Amino acid sequence: MKNICIINTGGTIGMNRGAKGYEPEKGFLAQQLAALPELSRSEMPSYELVEFEPVMDSSDMMPSDWQAIAKIVYQRYADFDGFVVLHGTDTMAYTASALPFMLPGLDKTVVITGSQIPLSEVRNDARENLITALMVAADFDVPEICVLFGKHLLRGCRTTKFSASSFDAFDSPNYPPLATVGTRIDLNENAIRRPNKSQTLALENIEAQEVATFRLFPGVSAAVLRNLLQQPLKALVLESYGVGNGPTTNPDFINAINEATENGTIIVNCSQCRHGTVRQTNYATGTALLEAGAISGGDLTIETTIAKLLFLFSANLSIDDVKKRMQTNMVGELTTDND
Ligand code: ASP
Repeated sequence: MKNICIINTGGTIGMNRGAKGYEPEKGFLAQQLAALPELSRSEMPSYELVEFEPVMDSSDMMPSDWQAIAKIVYQRYADFDGFVVLHGTDTMAYTASALPFMLPGLDKTVVITGSQIPLSEVRNDARENLITALMVAADFDVPEICVLFGKHLLRGCRTTKFSASSFDAFDSPNYPPLATVGTRIDLNENAIRRPNKSQTLALENIEAQEVATFRLFPGVSAAVLRNLLQQPLKALVLESYGVGNGPTTNPDFINAINEATENGTIIVNCSQCRHGTVRQTNYATGTALLEAGAISGGDLTIETTIAKLLFLFSANLSIDDVKKRMQTNMVGELTTDND
């Protein structure tokens, strides 16, 4: 029988009703699991539950919590056939984006899941997500950090939460699902990344860094941007229009970007559009950002752009190396012209 490690970080899936709304509660999820008869059926793997102390609402999560998840996977790797990470949906896409960088050489299935309604409620999406996640982690060879939610199994570093209410809350707009969940669980073999077998699992470090995002809108203030670009900012994710365009007739705006990049601040040009890729030279309004020193974020999600920047800065790389790797596909997070 397969044996799965369930890492409970918290999130709605295991929350209880409190005076101020749903909240995490130590031991509550374990009670719910013990009361689920399906988990003791022969089709299901055995499991061991490892619980965060304290269990958290994912809105409170920090990179140190991503590190804690990665460390459990790394330290318990040989003991289990696969891992299921129970996690709040609010920052699930950030965790799912960071973990692949932190666990290079992963050769087992790690499924992150959660729910929109707690397992303790009569009507919920938690039961299905949990059972499917356990089955995928036990019986499917998907050696990736993936997100299982509703009808899809997605590559973690391609995911984004796009619905605050739907049971299909996650999407990977620039990458096909790794599997579709219906009456059957249909794997999309061609989409699954297979690691280099000679690489053994490693645990990489990640820490919070001085990184920010800035979303453009018509009439955006160049003075606000200039303020944001002051030290100690190391990198700015510029959420531009369309294929990477910005308001270039305003010299203050372009000058602020130019001065920042000349002073060593990295500006990553990412699109506000969830689907598609940045091509800075398609329009003069994008070429101006390129000439001011912005690098292209290609089809990276905003979540992965941030996680990747944090990861690369945590490795103490030079500015040029961070820029180069931001534009290189490391773990399946980016489509390059060679793909
Ligand atoms: N606030 C919750 C969390 O992210 C939302 C959820 O799990 O759906 O932990």
